Amino acid sequence: MFKAILIEKDESGYRATLRDIDEGILSQGDVTVQVERSTLNYKDGLAITGKAPIVKRFPMVPGIDLSGTVIKSQHPRWQSGDRVVLNGWGVGEAHTGGLAQRARLSGDWLVPLPDAFTPAQAMAIGTAGYTAMLCVLALERHGVKPIDGPVVVTGAAGGVGSVAVTLLSRLGYAVAAVTGRPQEADYLKQLGAKEILARTDFSAQGKPLEAERWAGAVDTVGSHTLANICAQMKYRGTVTACGLAGGRDFPATVAPFILRGVTLVGIDSVMCPLPERLLAWQRLARDLDVTQLALMTREIGLGEAIATASELLAGQVRGRVVVDVNR
Ligand code: NAP
Repeated sequence: MFKAILIEKDESGYRATLRDIDEGILSQGDVTVQVERSTLNYKDGLAITGKAPIVKRFPMVPGIDLSGTVIKSQHPRWQSGDRVVLNGWGVGEAHTGGLAQRARLSGDWLVPLPDAFTPAQAMAIGTAGYTAMLCVLALERHGVKPIDGPVVVTGAAGGVGSVAVTLLSRLGYAVAAVTGRPQEADYLKQLGAKEILARTDFSAQGKPLEAERWAGAVDTVGSHTLANICAQMKYRGTVTACGLAGGRDFPATVAPFILRGVTLVGIDSVMCPLPERLLAWQRLARDLDVTQLALMTREIGLGEAIATASELLAGQVRGRVVVDVNR
């Protein structure tokens, strides 16, 4: 038996509890991992609270991320003792996930834990940080350079936002951080933000085109915020859209795209092909300042994950939450 968060749904309702379970509950896979750390992302918050239909089958162990050590493998790439990281692939949604002391997974989904990181640091990064890096890679691929002008990050004090701010500023970009929490201005400046902007300046309906401000953007919010960011892009600027913390709608016009040649790039971390994942983790190992990572991270025990999921959805969590599944 080992400890896990278990989500059940039946006639008495939807509930997440800390439980002792056995391997029989785990989904099938060719690699078994002794989990050291997991984390809480926005999606885990939705799954644990049941606020959105993230979980596809019950009972489910939530947790879209994990890091740990292989203890059993029938996969040619992995052997007992290998240290690994898992992000996405429907784990914690349709396949039992990381908020447990043990996980059974497909070896095709795993990436090696980079030497630069401990399991706890890898989970401080988690899907949020790896997604932030996918956004940075997309901006680079579309030719956005520091010299082109400032880049804007929305939902900046959240997980994806915090990692995006620190990565982009370390790479030399002038970063404007959009937040609904003015009390986090000093924190965001410590991460490297040059300018702090109020969420309310972006969250109402704006004009189809506004003054040109941004060479690049990382948007975690969606809805009017994403539409307004598109309307404020410089000629041929690039917007990466990865989130919906403010809403899944996109009430925009085509004006920025057909009059300013703006590019809107969709970012998906869940099914992202392995080569790009490996690149993202290599670049995180090279470009992320681990002292900044410590600044944005809080660690909790497995038993605290359920209460913290609600705080996360209420926008009360700053940066990243690591879950030590063994305490
Ligand atoms: P998070 O830590 O909860 O951060 C979300 C941030 O969004 C909050 O901290 C807050 O930042 C801002 N926010 C919250 N509610 C808002 C509202 N109503 N209007 C405007 N801003 C609001 O979540 P996360 O893990 O960073 O994820 C951020 C988003 O990216 C989520 O929508 C998540 O589903 C998505 N995501 C997508 C992928 C992908 O593969 N595409 C991967 C990871 C995450 P401030 O307090 O600074 O305003």
